Amino acid sequence: MLKLDILVLPVHPDDAELGCAGTLLKHIKLGHKVGIVDLTRGELGTRGTAEIRDKESARAAEILGIKVRGNLELPDGFFENTKLYQLKVIEAIRRYQPEIIITNAYHDRHPDHGRASELVEAACFLSGLRRIETSLEGQAQEPWRPKQVLHFIQDRYIHPDIVVDITDYWDTKVQSIYAYGSQFHNPEWSEDEPQTYISSPDFIQIVEGRAREFGKSIGVKYAEGFTSKKILGVDNLFDLK
Ligand SMILES: [Zn+2]
Repeated sequence: MLKLDILVLPVHPDDAELGCAGTLLKHIKLGHKVGIVDLTRGELGTRGTAEIRDKESARAAEILGIKVRGNLELPDGFFENTKLYQLKVIEAIRRYQPEIIITNAYHDRHPDHGRASELVEAACFLSGLRRIETSLEGQAQEPWRPKQVLHFIQDRYIHPDIVVDITDYWDTKVQSIYAYGSQFHNPEWSEDEPQTYISSPDFIQIVEGRAREFGKSIGVKYAEGFTSKKILGVDNLFDLK
């Protein structure tokens, strides 16, 4: 079994790249094992197709150097925070036994983000209950509850509980975002498909503005922000920036 230190459970391929790619790159550099399991294939996206997004997310995973990129194939737009979908997420959590889960923002411009956040938060708790039985390839899975569940901040501004300096990883984060050639600004993409909010050339500047703002708040160039429902502690006050 491949045990991960950090598992990202975002609803759409590209959410992890936008929300936390810099933090993932930093923790991979520190020697941690990191994986992403997208909840859906993003099949309702205005541009491109699910098959194209499969290829794009595999390419982004290569750029990030992550160990695992999986997909639960829940129905984009129509999954709910119910037992059927909770069990699928629990299976992924138990499979990789991560210490830290990162998922979508509590609420956002795209309503899937808030619903995914609630679904993953519920599954993280339920995954620790031994009377909920799941199996993988015919083998019963052990209960597992991650120590922390963090939510990245994507489109709408949310005041972060912590921010992570990603200055050294900004350029690679941008490369991982542009791996999604069907979604973001791409002069070579088919003119037959409509432009969207995220395909405009201005969009990456908005992403950069957010990272600069969080960076400035701790005296660095670029940072990513996260929230947590739990109070977060540190061992040493000098770890604070
Ligand atoms: Zn999304």
